[in-house]
Amino acid sequence: HAKESGASVTFFHSDMLEKAQQRFNIEQDLGYALELNQLSLVYQPICKGENVLHFESLLRWQHPEIGAISPMTFIPIAEDTNQIHIIGRWVLAQVCQLLGYWQAQSNDFNYPGITVNVSAKQLVSPAFISFVETLIKQNNITPYKLGLEITESTLMEDEQASAQALQSLRKAGVRLYLDDFGTGYSSLSLLGEYVFDVIKIDRHFITNVTDSDKSSTKLCAAMIQLARTLEMDVVAEGVETEEQLEWLTHQGDVSIQGYLKSRPLPVEDLIHWHPACKMP
Ligand code: C2E
Ligand code: CA
Ligand code: CA
Ligand code: CA
Repeated sequence: HAKESGASVTFFHSDMLEKAQQRFNIEQDLGYALELNQLSLVYQPICKGENVLHFESLLRWQHPEIGAISPMTFIPIAEDTNQIHIIGRWVLAQVCQLLGYWQAQSNDFNYPGITVNVSAKQLVSPAFISFVETLIKQNNITPYKLGLEITESTLMEDEQASAQALQSLRKAGVRLYLDDFGTGYSSLSLLGEYVFDVIKIDRHFITNVTDSDKSSTKLCAAMIQLARTLEMDVVAEGVETEEQLEWLTHQGDVSIQGYLKSRPLPVEDLIHWHPACKMP
């Protein structure tokens, strides 16, 4: 190993080199993760009162040597290497299949929807819209049961192409969620376009809401008011305590997502949340 071969090596044996090496392995291994069945989806309830309205689908990667790798680590790598396209298509296909199954099983449309996180590169890729439309048709889904979560930073990357994609998705009838609201630069101008059905207030605003002196608390209250004025639904992310829940309930009509209600769950556990959510 390089460590033994001399004093100057210390420089090369830096954290950066190790990180690059690690990244290289992760990058390579990610290429096989799908076919080796290492990727899976978990689903976190988004609730109104005691009822689940939607689930957010979240990727998990179980690496054979490293163990669980967070999507915060591997999604940015997948985006850089363009692996996000194949992974993202897999996620969408899984979710649409599940929705199709629930729909086929239920006599009415009384079952929860599912949201999918969409990266910038996916959103502006030319084949994305038709891929979504095809999945909706193939699986015989009511389009509004599928939600797409898009962050502000995503939209900033290619504003024009994103705006066009959003219009097409809107026509296709899927629900559009503005994710991590309040963390970007253009929050207000994005709302002016009226394309989003729902805003998700970022967890960092929720953390402090029980402290009435904090500016984040006032901002949070104002964001909820704003959404109401624009007739959009609101989801509060990362709700962990009864106190936060109480504060949010007091603000009015806010959907709740967070560990207080439930951690993200494997598909076989969803039935406990809604009788229509059977495992295929
Ligand atoms: P996000 O879209 O903001 O997802 C919410 C994250 O907050 C999830 O982390 C979720 O497990 C976590 N969370 C939920 N409730 C709580 C809570 O009460 N407290 C705390 N501290 N955290 C909570 P996760 O699953 O690690 O995902 C991280 C990020 O990775 C996501 O952030 C999203 O940006 C990205 N991601 C996950 N799955 C996908 C995917 O399928 N496609 C894409 N493009 N990105 C994904
Ligand atoms: Ca999200
Ligand atoms: Ca979020
Ligand atoms: Ca977030």
